Parts: sequence; C-alpha cells; structure tokens
Amino acid sequence: MAKIFFSIGTNLGDRKKNIERAVKMLKKQVGKCVKISSFFVSEPWGFNSDNIFFNIAAEFETELQPFELLEVTQQIEQVIGRTHKTENRKYADRIIDIDILFYDNQIIDSHQLTIPHCLLHKRDFVLYPLAEIAPEFQHPVLKKTIKEIIDSNHKSTQKKRVFIKEQPSSFSK
Ligand code: ADP
Ligand code: MG
Repeated sequence: MAKIFFSIGTNLGDRKKNIERAVKMLKKQVGKCVKISSFFVSEPWGFNSDNIFFNIAAEFETELQPFELLEVTQQIEQVIGRTHKTENRKYADRIIDIDILFYDNQIIDSHQLTIPHCLLHKRDFVLYPLAEIAPEFQHPVLKKTIKEIIDSNHKSTQKKRVFIKEQPSSFSK
C-alpha cells in the first residue's frame, strides 16, 4: 500500500464542485482518502486570467503503481472535462488539474511522469494546502519537510502568501 499526495486545482466553472467530483472519482478508482485540506483560493500563477483558482491537497492510500495512477488521474481529468494539456510551460485556464506530488519516497524522472512533482517546492498554492495536511512529510529529493520548504522560500522572497481559506463543504466519506 503506497501513501500518495495529490494537488488538485481548477479555475473554471463551479470550482468546489469540480474538486469534489475529482475527489469522489479518486476515492472510487485510486483508494482510500486519508486526509484532505481546505480549499485555498488564489490568483492564477504563470499566466494572466481573470479566473481565480481553488486548490486543495489530498493524501490517499493506493495499490496502484505510479504509471497506473497517472493513467487514472488523466482519465478523470478528461471525464470532468479538461480539454487540453499544458504544453511548453504555457499555462491556461483549466476545469481540473490533478497532479501527483509524492508516491511514498519514490523518485521517478521520466518524460511522462516526474515524482516528486517538479514544481511543487516553488508553488505556494501547492505547498500551503500540503502543509495543512502533511507539514512533516519529507521531500525525498530536497530532504526537507514541507514546513521547512515553505520557511526557506519565505527567507529568500521575504514575503508570506496569504490565501483565503474555505473549509471543504461536502466531502462525504
Ligand atoms: P500542468 O499540471 O503542469 O499544468 P498538465 O496537467 O497539462 O500540466 O500535465 C502535463 C503533463 O505532465 C502530463 O501529460 C503528464 O504526463 C506530465 N506529468 C509529469 N509529472 C507529473 C505528475 N507528477 N503528476 C501529473 N502529471 C505529470
Ligand atoms: Mg497537471
């Protein structure tokens, strides 16, 4: 049984509903949901858009192997209605984005799948929700906990991000 973490984001349509739908499908197809963060609301990162983002982090247990997991998450993205992928680092509005952050302490570096997720340590909208559910989890490459990554980011940028937080409303078991 592997311990895995997802970052789930959306900035189109009924954002809470999109995330709740994704979580429900992940519970069916991936495994048990162990922990789930609040919704973190933020401005788009890396591109211009009027559509604000809702992001959460979630911990699951799974019997799936990493590449099977990627297949499942991509299929769920498509069912929910993601129409195109991010190419050449050009970010765009999206109805749902499910990223695999960690898979136990495994390190995978292939074209299709990078674990730990290659940008997680740079993105506050990933780190803050993650810190709510797993502050002491250690990044297997950086060898720092989530809390320590956030702290060292603050030291280098001198600024603390403030997110509007909303409690999850209807994540029924
Ligand atoms: P982004 O999340 O960066 O906006 P996409 O969701 O469009 O981009 O994903 C682009 C590609 O990233 C996917 O086709 C997938 O193969 C790849 N990828 C690499 N590592 C991961 C990961 N850890 N989780 C999810 N997708 C990943
Ligand atoms: Mg993605």
